[in-house]
Amino acid sequence: MSNSQIPKQVVVLGAGMVGVCCALSLRRRGMAVILIDRREPGRETSFGNSGVFSRSSVFPINGPGLLQKLPLYLANRHPAVRWRASLLSNPRWIAGFLAECTAQSAARQSRALDGLIKLSMDLNRQLMGGAGLSTHLRETGWLKVWRGGEGGGLARAEAAALGAFGIATQVLDAAEVARFEPHAAGVFKAGLHITGSASVDDPGAVVAGYAALARALGVEVLRAEARALYRTTTGWRVETTGGSHDGDAVVVALGPWSAEIMRPAGFRVPMGFERGYHVHLEMTEGRGPQRAIYDVDGGYVVSPMRAGARVTSGVELASRDAPPNTAQIDAAALMAQDTFGLGAAVEAEPWMGSRPTLPDSLPMIGELPGALGLYAAFGHQHIGFSTGSGTGEIIAAAIAGEAPPIDTSAFAAGRFAWVAIASMQDMFGLHPTPDPSPSRGGEQCTACLLAIVEQRDQRRDHAKSPSPSWGGVRGGGRPTIL
Ligand SMILES: Cc1cc2nc3c(=O)[nH]c(=O)nc-3n(C[C@H](O)[C@H](O)[C@H](O)COP(=O)(O)OP(=O)(O)OC[C@H]3O[C@@H](n4cnc5c(N)ncnc54)[C@H](O)[C@@H]3O)c2cc1C
Repeated sequence: MSNSQIPKQVVVLGAGMVGVCCALSLRRRGMAVILIDRREPGRETSFGNSGVFSRSSVFPINGPGLLQKLPLYLANRHPAVRWRASLLSNPRWIAGFLAECTAQSAARQSRALDGLIKLSMDLNRQLMGGAGLSTHLRETGWLKVWRGGEGGGLARAEAAALGAFGIATQVLDAAEVARFEPHAAGVFKAGLHITGSASVDDPGAVVAGYAALARALGVEVLRAEARALYRTTTGWRVETTGGSHDGDAVVVALGPWSAEIMRPAGFRVPMGFERGYHVHLEMTEGRGPQRAIYDVDGGYVVSPMRAGARVTSGVELASRDAPPNTAQIDAAALMAQDTFGLGAAVEAEPWMGSRPTLPDSLPMIGELPGALGLYAAFGHQHIGFSTGSGTGEIIAAAIAGEAPPIDTSAFAAGRFAWVAIASMQDMFGLHPTPDPSPSRGGEQCTACLLAIVEQRDQRRDHAKSPSPSWGGVRGGGRPTIL
């Protein structure tokens, strides 16, 4: 790419961890960047996660092992995975997700995830330092623990599998786990300490701090809702509640909301939602976890945060906007309370968010096929807090016409056949200038029709679901607060 072809102005949609990191990397390459979010930076998925910069999350949830566990999960009692009827409104995603449960896919996914995570880990540490956030960072690793006697064997097997990627771990017996986590002494039979991971004590504050750095470097951070995206003669235009913004390039980093804006622009993104919840429990008299811990048999993660011990639930497969069901987080919170001697819940209700997951559990990072200047940066499932920084570098390198920092072929936006309907629409003149409105004077494009049907299904789903009520955890009474 010659210098004259390098975009001068880039609009980034979404100020979660991914969008903020894209904005930073682009700005560092001298481009004018507008970062748009309907909320303050880092208030959605990037706010509510477990805050782990995870070096070891290289095995996707839909590996071959998922099929063996499927009967267990279908019973809907396992703490790690629950599903709700609203999931069935996304049959294509379910089929695609299950089709990836092969050893071959898993090996390809793990290689790709390893590359992205490796790229991101150093960048995270540099960014934390550069943004003046080092006091939020804990270099205490990440601990996975098992309650049953089989834990030792499982820990050793995982250590070997991670070792194949050069990921350092330490297998722990019951006494060693007790030394690491004295308040849970006697509960866990085995553990695996992933030494190269780290965690933060307030993920939302970290993203807000990165956004403050971006602002200081000259990124224009705007608060507005993006409503539509369409092509202009020179690039792309984003219509927002605060007016329209043009860019030579646009980066869509709207996390779980990314698919909507792509549809009228002619792209159907196969997005699924692995919902998750968190509560903070009081850490009284110094009791509580000493670092981020994954209680495998309990199906939750607990980590000390500024607000208390944050307990995050496992996966709830559902439609993104279906009402919350707190059964899974209630059970997790009770277990964490008992295990670590934690106190009452801090907030009135659990937080809920959605891990945005594509069928192959890999994010989509790069330019959309047939749409010069439109870039995808979404679908980071369980590890977007860890891998936003690497994603930013990949996107910025692509837009600047540099060689990619790692092999990005597995993240290519064109890898799902049904994504590429934009080029077909262009070819057949169905959508010559993508229009912000779903209807163009009575004429509607295929993508718009599909979107309308899906929205109708989602509304029906929402109307049928019971209203939310939180059972809560011990110490604060049910059903109100804890
Ligand atoms: C319970 C749980 C635990 C997790 N734990 C970890 C962990 O420990 N480590 C890890 O690496 N990852 C973890 N994750 C995953 C991680 O949180 C996500 O992958 C990551 O936050 C996704 O970031 P994002 O920037 O893509 O999305 P988001 O953070 O959701 O950002 C998207 C942004 O887009 C904005 N937006 C949406 N629509 C519009 C619109 N129309 N106009 C303007 N703005 C809009 C939103 O306001 C939001 O700020 C966890 C996730 C969950 C749910």
